[in-house]
Amino acid sequence: MDRLAGKIALISGGSRGIGAAIAERFLSEGAKVVIGDVLDEDGRQLAARLGDGVRYVHLDVTKPADWERAVKETVDVFGGLGILVNNAGIVNFGRIDDYSHEQWARIINVNLTGVFNGIKAAATSLADAGAASIINISSIAGLRGYEQLSGYTASKFGVRGLTKSAALDLGGSGIRVNSVHPGVIETPMTAGMVFETDRVPLRRIGQPMEIADLVLYLAGDESAFVTGAEFVIDGGETAGTVAPRAP
Ligand code: NAP
Repeated sequence: MDRLAGKIALISGGSRGIGAAIAERFLSEGAKVVIGDVLDEDGRQLAARLGDGVRYVHLDVTKPADWERAVKETVDVFGGLGILVNNAGIVNFGRIDDYSHEQWARIINVNLTGVFNGIKAAATSLADAGAASIINISSIAGLRGYEQLSGYTASKFGVRGLTKSAALDLGGSGIRVNSVHPGVIETPMTAGMVFETDRVPLRRIGQPMEIADLVLYLAGDESAFVTGAEFVIDGGETAGTVAPRAP
């Protein structure tokens, strides 16, 4: 009930999916939460449903000025900032020989530069908190390649690398930085996609609240000695290759 009591969090892409689950979970553990997203209507409705401890701000992660405003509003409204969750992301598909420069630029801008923008805008306020945590949502596509997902995979590998360097730069300021690598999770992003769960040892896809539980651990003081690390949460999908079924 109070694992995040007294803490203040900013979550990008928090209007729906994994980000919304993280907002709800943080709130249930006593945090104050600011949700930033480009989906304003969904975000406002979610904030209204979750109650007094939550605010919604418009935040396009590709725009440094939006980040400055979101951080300022968080500090002005709740009195500080101790947790940053870089969760906003998009996916696009195409064989690399058909994949356009525009697709590439767009996904790197949102998924990777958006995380850089967030860390940069929040670093001073996070340092002021004394003990702070940044959680970057990468993917198992930040650990291995996927067909038709070259931009997404490159962006998520980038988030993993950025996490390590940021952890080195910011550790002395009391800011921990870790990456989370989900497998397939049931959210609007994956709606309509077909997945072969017989390749997953646990034989199912994951739920947003399961990611939120891991992010909660990384956000709170229970993980005070954890930084620069990567946390895989994928039902075992990347543990190895599931053997072909016997005929
Ligand atoms: P989602 O349901 O699509 O939610 C992501 C949210 O981020 C949406 O509200 C989206 O709005 C928003 N967003 C997109 N571009 C943005 C921008 N420039 N600035 C601010 N917000 C923006 O996706 P999700 O499945 O919850 O994914 C959350 C994170 O987990 C992403 O980083 C994703 O790559 C990662 N992840 C997801 C899975 C999975 O299987 N679902 C697996 C591994 C990793 P729009 O509708 O406008 O795009």
